[in-house]
Amino acid sequence: MNESTALTPRSVLVTGASRGIGAAIVADFVSAGHRVAGLSTSGTAPEGALGIACDITDPAQVEAAFTQAEEVNGPVEILVANAGITKDTLVLRMSEEDFAAVIEVNLVGAFRCAKRASKSMIRGRFGRLIFIGSVVGMQGSPGQVNYSASKAGLIGMARSLTRELGSRGVTANVVAPGFIETDMTGNLGESVVERYRSQIPAGRFGNTAEVSAAVSYLASDQAGYVSGVVLAVDGGMGMGN
Ligand code: NDP
Repeated sequence: MNESTALTPRSVLVTGASRGIGAAIVADFVSAGHRVAGLSTSGTAPEGALGIACDITDPAQVEAAFTQAEEVNGPVEILVANAGITKDTLVLRMSEEDFAAVIEVNLVGAFRCAKRASKSMIRGRFGRLIFIGSVVGMQGSPGQVNYSASKAGLIGMARSLTRELGSRGVTANVVAPGFIETDMTGNLGESVVERYRSQIPAGRFGNTAEVSAAVSYLASDQAGYVSGVVLAVDGGMGMGN
């Protein structure tokens, strides 16, 4: 292996690690030889990772989870803010509680983790902040005013972090999946699935490994000059937007 492809083992923390996209990301980091902590409310994570029970809406639980992860794996060098929820309904039926609950997990929770991770990244002069956004953060989606606002917010956050931390060796990027086969999309009706599929140039939903591969690239040493981008993994649905 030459110097440009050699892998530096890192301390990685992934939120929403118990299933779906987060579990795939954890599994890939583990098999690449990194030290990985996976957070979720249930505390389960794929084999080889340190599973930690943590509700990211609670600042005290986030602080305790980072402390636990760092005791085992060392200061977090790669953060993947992946935990996310939906509470879909049309705007006139959407309660303020449903709007705020989605923002609290998807946007405030990501901020909370990024802020906590930034400290040691700045000190170590290396960091990768990776936020899992969504194609609907750029395109909007009926019934998802709360969710799309939270995902659009991640883009502004990553770009501001890029400007604040770029000179310290810390990058901040968003991976924006399109429709990926997980629990989150598993309860869509067949007619909805068909409607969505017809909008995807690839003609199919994506899989979690395809999202994880994009995350692995942005986390790599080789991606040190890539920051503030939105990397869409959507079968061409958004044409890069
Ligand atoms: P899943 O619903 O399959 O998994 C969500 C994960 O988030 C679970 O591990 C869940 O763990 C965790 N989680 C939820 N709330 C909290 C919380 N308050 N604190 C800590 N962990 C929490 O989702 P996906 O894998 O499908 O999605 C992962 C990310 O990708 C999300 O941000 C989603 O918005 C985004 N995305 C998904 C797409 C798709 O098509 N699937 C498309 C575009 C974006 P537990 O329940 O154990 O706490």
